[in-house]
Amino acid sequence: MNILVLGSGGREHALVWAIRQNPKCDRLFVAPGNAGMGSLARQVDIDILSADAVLEFVAAEAIDFVVIGPEAPLAAGVGDALAAAGILHFGPSAAAAKLESSKSFTKEICDACNAPTAGYGHFTDAEAAKAHIRANGAPIVVKADGLAAGKGVVVAMTEEEALSAIDDMFGGAFGAAGAEVVIEEFMAGEEASFFILSDGKSILPVGTAQDHKRVGDGDTGPNTGGMGAYSPAPVLTTAIQEQVLREIVQPTVDEMARRGTPFKGVLYAGLMIENGYARLVEYNVRFGDPECQVLMMRLGAQILDLLLACAEERLHEITVNWADDHALTVVMAAEGYPGDYKKGTEIRGLSALPETSSQMAFHAGTIERERKILANGGRVLNITARADSLAEARVLAYDMVDQIDWPEGFCRKDIGWRAL
Ligand code: ATP
Repeated sequence: MNILVLGSGGREHALVWAIRQNPKCDRLFVAPGNAGMGSLARQVDIDILSADAVLEFVAAEAIDFVVIGPEAPLAAGVGDALAAAGILHFGPSAAAAKLESSKSFTKEICDACNAPTAGYGHFTDAEAAKAHIRANGAPIVVKADGLAAGKGVVVAMTEEEALSAIDDMFGGAFGAAGAEVVIEEFMAGEEASFFILSDGKSILPVGTAQDHKRVGDGDTGPNTGGMGAYSPAPVLTTAIQEQVLREIVQPTVDEMARRGTPFKGVLYAGLMIENGYARLVEYNVRFGDPECQVLMMRLGAQILDLLLACAEERLHEITVNWADDHALTVVMAAEGYPGDYKKGTEIRGLSALPETSSQMAFHAGTIERERKILANGGRVLNITARADSLAEARVLAYDMVDQIDWPEGFCRKDIGWRAL
């Protein structure tokens, strides 16, 4: 079959790499892709936020299946346009993608199906929000309702911090995303991510992971898009996974179906685990980046069969073949990230790295110019390895990092510390 993957990050490189290994895949395209994907897929330069442009390409190249990687085309309704045109695709409708794009919507769904999550209040008025904060005290969490690229959340340790977050949000610091605010009870515990496919009715877990949000070793410094990840996440024991599927994910999927907006795609549940019990922090409606890289390395070629079963509403027929393995990815970023950073610095040594089923350098922000690989973003490479143990996977990944000659790049040296 002919397949088109939308996106350009490390997540999409990993998806393309795994899909390419499946014998069902004939021609493979990626739009727009990045410098690492050239040998796996044909890169095409179309506007992936334009449903018309995607549909036109699908028709021209007789594409049988479209995999939507990032959230932006989902929110832009590309999934809906493909559905309307009868094109098989992986990725939810814009209405179902509200599970990520609106925090108050997710809370409403949790209420409706009794899914455990932080207690909350929802406010469109600054004074009412402040009264709620004064009544409940700190620690407390203030969130802009809409998408704010991970920056619209303030975990306030003092009442003053929470009150000033309200002033910022209603003062327009997050544009329209801050016109409504959700104030949540602070949940203590350890965070982990759980990835579950849903075909609108049935669900199928496809792995657990933990990421590293802070830029510096020992979880210090500002938040980032993620500096590394590993899978599985030992904190998500089998018993807790079962609790999450039973009390959170299946009820969510059932409630979405009951409302006439079934969720088809991957639910990425951000969870807080305390005393052997998980509560929902948030949903995302796509694979995480860099969590996808470790999941794809563990799932390999079967991912195509899983995504197809999801799109064709036959998840109940399929099982995941798990190896007893561990994967870890180290993000290499441009110096200065997540603040200002330089683009265009040259990265050497990539062509000498192993490219096997258990060691891959997935590209994120890279570009090829005159046969050189240049950094073209903040997060640039995802050095990923798989082994029988997490400790071995970590050694393999950092061995690769050591072979890369990129003076203007950096990475965290402690990815995996929590599980090791
Ligand atoms: P992202 O998608 O980048 O993780 P987001 O903007 O969608 O962020 P959330 O995931 O809801 O926001 O919150 C970001 C982080 O804030 C969480 O990963 C968690 O560490 C912390 N957090 C959010 N809600 C709570 C809560 N109720 N109690 C404690 N910590 C919280």
